[in-house]
Amino acid sequence: MRVRIERRWVRRVWITVEHTGTVVVTASPRYAESTLQRLIERHRAWIERQRERYRTMDRIRLHPGQLLYRGQVYRFVCRQRLGEQVLIYPARAIIESGENLLDPAIQRQWYSNEAERLLRRRVGQLAVRFGFYYWRFRVGDYVSAWGYCSADGTLTFDWRIAKLPPHVMDYLIVHELLHTKIPHHGPRFWRRLEDLLPNYRRAVEWLRTYGRWV
Ligand SMILES: [Zn+2]
Repeated sequence: MRVRIERRWVRRVWITVEHTGTVVVTASPRYAESTLQRLIERHRAWIERQRERYRTMDRIRLHPGQLLYRGQVYRFVCRQRLGEQVLIYPARAIIESGENLLDPAIQRQWYSNEAERLLRRRVGQLAVRFGFYYWRFRVGDYVSAWGYCSADGTLTFDWRIAKLPPHVMDYLIVHELLHTKIPHHGPRFWRRLEDLLPNYRRAVEWLRTYGRWV
């Protein structure tokens, strides 16, 4: 287990685990190294849980030539004869196209189109099922948020939503639809969300675990 000790004038001792598995201890210079080692020992179970969590995360890290689509890792195969057409084979985990989807600009455009297509179907379905009204939806580019609901009932979603598993996309849609009735994140919001999607915490957990790698 790699441990890095960072000396700073902080009041408490902080232990964090980086995604590489390195344990980082931030402590003021007045703590002896042996004291910090004992602290690490005492929190070993927690540290191991964090490291395990990051190890599972590795599964979603993409290798060159791979794409993430609807929560699944695909291998991209370029087939000139397909032109702009994109074929998706979930069972074989292969995506084929004549366009090079590994090119960042082309890839982003494709994800945006897919997000638009998937959302067009799903936002309508879920709005009808749960009795919500919205004005329209858009696909945008958000770095810190997956979705946004404006006061006029416009729902905006990040284009990366096409990379997420269907149950996580459903959660983000219902979350924004619910904002058309409850604008803030008070206890009433989360209670109502749980009524609509009893398993929504699974989606929140997925985003917490993998969201930053997507
Ligand atoms: Zn919200």
